[in-house]
Amino acid sequence: MKTEDIKGRGKGQGSRRRHRRCLHQYDHLETKKQVFGGADGSDPMWMRIDLFYCQRCLRIKERVLKSHSKEQPTWY
Ligand SMILES: [Zn+2]
Repeated sequence: MKTEDIKGRGKGQGSRRRHRRCLHQYDHLETKKQVFGGADGSDPMWMRIDLFYCQRCLRIKERVLKSHSKEQPTWY
């Protein structure tokens, strides 16, 4: 536990020191869509994951949309 704490803190400091301000400019990378369940008569789970990456620092951002409904959600 203790070692983990120290390690975690050190890592945080390191990245803060190296941190450069980035005005993230996200670009769409890919969209994954999945439907779970629904075969047994219950409402299926609709899931959509959009992945974006920053053109400047290549940081990946993820947006997850999910919903339980009989009908296909408008965002799907
Ligand atoms: Zn960025």
